[in-house]
Amino acid sequence: MIIYDDKKISQIANWQDKEIYMLLDFDRTITDTYSEMSWGILSKSKLVPKEYRLDREKLHNHYRPIELDESLDEETKKKYMEEWFYKHINMLIKYKISKQIIDDTCKNLNLMKFRDGMKEFLINMHKRKIPVVIMSAGIGNFIKAFLKYHHCLFDNIYIVSNFLEFKDGIAHGMGSNIIHSLNKSNELLTDDIKAKLKGRHKIILFGDTCADTKMSGHVPSQNVLKIGFLAENIDNNIDAYKKVYDVICLGPTSMKDVSKIVKIVGCNYEM
Ligand SMILES: [Mg+2]
Repeated sequence: MIIYDDKKISQIANWQDKEIYMLLDFDRTITDTYSEMSWGILSKSKLVPKEYRLDREKLHNHYRPIELDESLDEETKKKYMEEWFYKHINMLIKYKISKQIIDDTCKNLNLMKFRDGMKEFLINMHKRKIPVVIMSAGIGNFIKAFLKYHHCLFDNIYIVSNFLEFKDGIAHGMGSNIIHSLNKSNELLTDDIKAKLKGRHKIILFGDTCADTKMSGHVPSQNVLKIGFLAENIDNNIDAYKKVYDVICLGPTSMKDVSKIVKIVGCNYEM
């Protein structure tokens, strides 16, 4: 089921391809509701040492409740999230995670697959030359490998995420900027990406958490249409989603259904 604000949908009815870009979260937005998240996917893979899986679980059990604790102030939480981030990176380095493992893990459709209609959507955006920005607090290497494996790593797609760096094919560090769930914002866009988006002031945003709606930063609300996927804990979360999203897709929802309501999203079903 999809709930939406009629008024908002009619306001965007005249938006043109040349003035918009798409801004999407990755985990469980581009991938489906049942996919592993890019931070967790390795722990489900048979390709990594068991010790990594155990260590990672300890870390997760310690920090995940902090991430979910709404009573903590943002600064404190941010500090913990960064701590978690660096500890996990060090673990990937310690266990010598290879680029090959990342590439191979992304091919496992039991762990990660497209939301229904998402591949068609990306192909359609490519054909229409509409930029697609993927902003993720996950690990960008997985996003890239996943899109490449599915033949969707198009030149109109820009990935803003955390990237592992490799030396001789083995993880040895991380790029300078870190992106976690609390700092996702269009302020993270590089000058290169901004140049590609020049002249495009309207955004269609897709996310699966309330925090994802901050990806559009200070862009005025009349220039952003926010589409949220809510599949877990619907009764408890629906009110919070209603406050921040214009369109809410309840349960596992296909992009084809989204495009019936938000026409400009479009999907080309001819594969
Ligand atoms: Mg997500």
